[in-house]
Amino acid sequence: MERDVDRFAEAESQDNGKPVHLAHEVDIPRAVANLRFFATAILHQQSEAHLTDGLAVNYTDRQPIGVAGCISPWNLPLYLFTWKVAPALAAGCTVVAKPSEVTPWTAYLLSRVCAEEGLPPGVLNIVHGLGPKVGAAMSAHPDIPAISFTGGTRTGAEIARTAAPLFKKLSLELGGKNPVIVFDDCDFEAMLTTTVRSSFRNQGQICLCGSRILVQRGSYDRFRAAFVERTKALHVGDPKDPGSDLGALVSKAHLEKVLGHVEIAKSEGGRILCGGDQVHLEGALSGGWYMRPTVIEGLGPQCRTNQEEIFGPVVTLQPFDTEAEALTLANSTPYGLAAVIWTKDLQRAHRVARGVQSGIVWVNCWMLRDLRTPFGGVKQSGVGREGGWEALRFFTEAKNVCVRL
Ligand code: NAD
Repeated sequence: MERDVDRFAEAESQDNGKPVHLAHEVDIPRAVANLRFFATAILHQQSEAHLTDGLAVNYTDRQPIGVAGCISPWNLPLYLFTWKVAPALAAGCTVVAKPSEVTPWTAYLLSRVCAEEGLPPGVLNIVHGLGPKVGAAMSAHPDIPAISFTGGTRTGAEIARTAAPLFKKLSLELGGKNPVIVFDDCDFEAMLTTTVRSSFRNQGQICLCGSRILVQRGSYDRFRAAFVERTKALHVGDPKDPGSDLGALVSKAHLEKVLGHVEIAKSEGGRILCGGDQVHLEGALSGGWYMRPTVIEGLGPQCRTNQEEIFGPVVTLQPFDTEAEALTLANSTPYGLAAVIWTKDLQRAHRVARGVQSGIVWVNCWMLRDLRTPFGGVKQSGVGREGGWEALRFFTEAKNVCVRL
C-alpha cells in the first residue's frame, strides 16, 4: 500500500472531494501507520496472571472473538477503515468490513492489495452496499459477535438497538460538537494557525474538528479580526491543485445540509462574519459541491447551531469571561468527543482538561495522535473507547482460567 500512496490518495480525493495533497499527507500515511501499529502491537500484547492466596493461579486467556463486523464512514475513508480492520485482524479475527457507500474506492483498492499480497481468502471480507441494508444486516447477524462502528450518532443508536438484544460487543465512535477554548494568556500566533486548521481541515469534515470556538473576552476582538482574515484567505479550489486549502464537500446532499445549517444560524440571529455560501468554480468543476469556510457569531449555547453537529466548514465564536464559564459552555452539548485548550497556564490546562466532558483533550495542539492512547468520545459521542490495547482487547473474549495448586 505504501508504494501505492499516489494511487490511493487520488482515489480518495476523487471519492471524497478532499484535496489530493491532504490525502497524501494525512489519510494514506495514517492508514499505513494503523496497519503497522497493530501488526507490531500484537507482538507485545500481555495478559494477566494472579496468584490467589497461595491456593490457585488465575490467568486470563484472551481469544479472538470470532467474526468482527467493522463499519466505517466517508470522511476519512481508508484511515478509519484500517483503524478497525487492523486491530481485528491482528487480534486473530476474521473480518466483515463495510466502507461507506459514499466512498468505497480505497477499501476496494485495499482488497486488491491484500489479494496480491496473499492474505488467505475469507480472512478479510470487504462488503459494499447501503448502510440500512448491508450495515444493518451485519448488526443483526447472529454470527458476528462484535461490531466496531464509526459514524453518526443516530446510526450508532440504530445499531445499538439491533445489536443489544443479541448481546453483541459494541464499540461506537460517533459525532461531535467539539469546543476550542482560547484563554487570553495563550500563544496567540500558534493558536490562530492551528485553530484555522482545526476548523476547516478536510472541509471541516473531521469528527475531531473544533466547531465551537470559545474565546476569553480580553482576546475576543483581536481573535475575531485575525481569524476571519485568515479564513477569508483560505483557497477553495480544485482538489488536484496543491494550492487548494479546501476541496469539495462529500456530496450534494451534504452540501445542502450544511448550507441549510447556515440558514438556521441566520434565523436564530447569528451574524455571518465570512462565507456562508457555495463556491462556483469554473470549467469542468462548475456545479461542484464547494463551500466557502464560514464563521458565525452572536449565538447562545442552546441554539441549534451550537447544539447540532454540522460536519462542514462552519464554526461559531462565543466569548466567555471566567474559566468556570468556559467549562459550562464547553460542556453544554450532548456530545463529548474532543476538546482543545489554549493557555500557557499549566495548572489551568490540567484543571480544564479534567473538567471538560470529552474523551480526548488537546492542550496547545490539535490532532496529534499517539496510537497507544484510548480514542473516542463520551456522552453521545460514543462508547467503548478504542485505540492501542483497548482496540486489540475489544476484538477478543477474555476467559479466566483458575487452576488449583
Ligand atoms: P453514517 O452514520 O451515515 O454512516 C456510517 C456508516 O454506517 C456507513 O458505512 C453507512 O453505510 C453505515 N450505516 C448507515 N446506516 C446504517 C444502519 N442502519 N446500520 C448499520 N450501518 C449503517 O455516518 P457518515 O455520514 O458516513 O459519517 C459522518 C459521521 O461520522 C459524523 O457524525 C461524524 O462525526 C462521524 N464520525 C465519527 C468519528 C469518531 O471517531 N467518533 C470519526 C469520523 C466520523
